[in-house]
Amino acid sequence: MLEGEFELAGTVLSRGIAIGSMFVLDSEENLISEVAISEGQIELEIERYRNALLQSRHDIEQLKVKLENEGISEGALVLEAHVHITFDPLLNAKMEDEIRKTSKNAEFVFQNFMQKYSNRLKESLHPSFHERVEDVYDITKRVLEYLHKSCKLPFDNLPENAIIVCHSMTPSKAAEASCRTSCAFVTNHGGRMSHTAIIARAKGIPYVTHVDVSQVFSKIVEKVIIVDGFQGKIIFNPKEKTIEQYNALQKKFKLQFDRFQSDNSTGVKTRDGTKVSLLANVEIIDDFSELKSFHPEGVGLFRTEYLILRKGSIPSEDEQYFAYKKLCLNMKDYPVVIRVFDLGLDKVVHGFQALSSDIMTKDGSRTLRFLLNEQELFISQVRAILKASLHADVRILLPMISTLSELRHAKELIEIARTSLLDDGILIRNIKLGCMIELPCAAMISDQLAKECDFISIGTNDLIQYALAIDRTSYSASSLFTTTHPGVMRLVKIIAERGHNVGIPVCVCGEMASDPRFVPFLLGLGIKELSVSSRFLPIIRKVVQNITLSDAKEVAKKVLELSLADEIHEILVQSVQKYIPQSIMNHFL
Ligand code: PEP
Ligand code: MG
Repeated sequence: MLEGEFELAGTVLSRGIAIGSMFVLDSEENLISEVAISEGQIELEIERYRNALLQSRHDIEQLKVKLENEGISEGALVLEAHVHITFDPLLNAKMEDEIRKTSKNAEFVFQNFMQKYSNRLKESLHPSFHERVEDVYDITKRVLEYLHKSCKLPFDNLPENAIIVCHSMTPSKAAEASCRTSCAFVTNHGGRMSHTAIIARAKGIPYVTHVDVSQVFSKIVEKVIIVDGFQGKIIFNPKEKTIEQYNALQKKFKLQFDRFQSDNSTGVKTRDGTKVSLLANVEIIDDFSELKSFHPEGVGLFRTEYLILRKGSIPSEDEQYFAYKKLCLNMKDYPVVIRVFDLGLDKVVHGFQALSSDIMTKDGSRTLRFLLNEQELFISQVRAILKASLHADVRILLPMISTLSELRHAKELIEIARTSLLDDGILIRNIKLGCMIELPCAAMISDQLAKECDFISIGTNDLIQYALAIDRTSYSASSLFTTTHPGVMRLVKIIAERGHNVGIPVCVCGEMASDPRFVPFLLGLGIKELSVSSRFLPIIRKVVQNITLSDAKEVAKKVLELSLADEIHEILVQSVQKYIPQSIMNHFL
């Protein structure tokens, strides 16, 4: 046992302080925790198990065919036996009954169940049964892997102030967390621009990564731990005095933050009178009171794929319509930009072959390209959006566009959706269509794209990832994820210029817009729409209100003359410090 206070260092992805009970979700070895499942969730849990079994069987069958084609008939025979086992009633009806009977999570039930199964085989007197133990082990591992990937966090059952400690956290898990119960995330792996980090910041949940917690998981005496999401450390077995100190610090920061947040004016202008629209990025639409408390002037980016990620399957057209309508009714007089499903890389749906990371990575069939292949899905989403457009000024946004033909193809499908609604006698409006520019190739043809759409939105997160060849979800590469790279600055300038030359609005909806340092630069490029994570609206508003457009232009000019990322960083920090006190900046940077 590790007694006495000690700390582990990590890297901060979302700022803040949390004091709470450690809730270990899994360890490096994927330990499976026992979780009680509520009555209403049991059939969904069984469905999750069925999917895992189905996927595993599918994988084995494919592997078998591959071996057959390669002439490895012995291996194919072994896999034939594995396929056979997956049809065993034990793994089907019996296992499903066991989930119902125990009301526990599928992986926990399955692991115990298979353990007993292989024990029985081992104890059997017949040697041929002993040989099957390895097969059972193999299948168990396969199914558990699928279950583990699709594992839903039992957030409903979490105690208040749970600090979630796990190997890595997917965006869908983070999306489920509520700040009431989950007061911090601590992981081994995570990148600053990952969707998980974006969500943690949006929810105000402190998040520290690159913490090597696997060594101490089981050896810690006290469950209460402290997450210092300013200095990047986790304090285990904290002394009473340390807890008191952190309690005081937490109160002080909250006071500073609340005082700062209290200015929520809309109709924001620069000091010399230029109107700037400050919109919100939205992922989850459970609770609008929090979003509204920051007074956005509309939604500049609704990441609809979270409807899929949270459900674990594709919502029907009606389900989507109700979700979009809810958002529209809450944003009534303001614009609502609905981005069509942007799936791929870390935003994948486990248990669905076409939406798995393998397929999306290998075939490049992700985000808009995926939708253009899955026309029915795209058309039904557009139908749902068009129907909801009666309730607000709705616009459609196409993610990760790479060619003009994709834009034209998307338009054709949108037209099919429109016509089908008119044929159904449903009233709809003409709505605006925008392109997300988040690939360097799209930046270079942004003038051509701009001529055939109504607005442009710059997705700096992916733009940087693809321009610098750095995985945004990776911790180890995060020091190379240089937002201030001169090449990135120039790409943003090119897109803004080309969009404005054609006469259409240009918005920035990537994290660059939520970072106060970049506001002078972006305004200096003539950008007048920023869509930001809602908790960052007050600080961005403050910068806009305190700056003049001529100062902003001066900053942009200087930035574009520099050739080193560090120098650009320096200029940006220096210029924003004129408008925001350092103590407040500490909350955000
Ligand atoms: C972006 O890439 O900048 C963006 C806003 O989209 P997402 O973060 O959802 O990929
Ligand atoms: Mg993107």
